[in-house]
Amino acid sequence: MRPGQTHKSRSTPGRPGAPAKVAACRVTFHIDPDLTLFLRARPGEAGLAVDYDGTSSVGHGVESLGVPLTEVGEIRIAGHPADDHARIPPESTVTVLARRRPQPVPDGTARVCLDGHLGTLARRLRLVGLDSWYRNDTSDDDLIATATAENRVLLTKDRALLRRRAVRLGAYVRGDRPDEQLCDVLDRFAPALAPWTRCPACNGHLDPVPKAEVEHLLLPGTRRTYSSFARCRSCGRPYWHGAHGGRLDRVVERARRTVARRISADGGAGGTGTAPDPSGTPAR
Ligand SMILES: [Zn+2]
Repeated sequence: MRPGQTHKSRSTPGRPGAPAKVAACRVTFHIDPDLTLFLRARPGEAGLAVDYDGTSSVGHGVESLGVPLTEVGEIRIAGHPADDHARIPPESTVTVLARRRPQPVPDGTARVCLDGHLGTLARRLRLVGLDSWYRNDTSDDDLIATATAENRVLLTKDRALLRRRAVRLGAYVRGDRPDEQLCDVLDRFAPALAPWTRCPACNGHLDPVPKAEVEHLLLPGTRRTYSSFARCRSCGRPYWHGAHGGRLDRVVERARRTVARRISADGGAGGTGTAPDPSGTPAR
């Protein structure tokens, strides 16, 4: 199914060389404005009219327009909700809606897996407490296998990766700058935040520790200036609040506002997380 094909086209997507059993017909897609960034062709006022071979699923049709199904919340055929495996009756109108935000996650806990190009985003998600698996040396197959085995949302900017059949739960990351990307992920899933509880470098848990335990790892200036410390259970890195001035505080504050705004916009009931209690955060 390709936008702009004529009625005379006999192509059969997904079955190269197979004769079309059903005469091609015209169907019209109405795409949620929130999804138009994925489209390969610009829709007209009356939607996106394409030729349909009569046999492909509506999900295949949506993907052939460029929209990954991970981004689709609901498909309606002639106004009725439809499964993405459904076929499209001739001359029908198909409405494609974006996922509603906040998007529920398995077990109510947002756990993510990031592709190798999203290292800065991974560090920021860990800073606000999200369990974030990231390696910059992994293959797409391993990435998908990890996401599947650990029930994680696969975060990527790679649309082709999201279209892989093996991807069960994925999300396209919007925005080019890490702060935009962080806002997008938090706005989409509205996860429970736990700032300063994970190691930004390795995703390990941070535990408060007495200064004496990490003193030998500190530079003299740090040793003199700070008294409250945490240490990563996995890699042993020491952390103290103030190492990056107020920059990280601002990242955390913005993250909290983003999640609170999304939960509030959803009526306060549909979020997967709750606003964190600032007094409950351990050593920074
Ligand atoms: Zn660590």
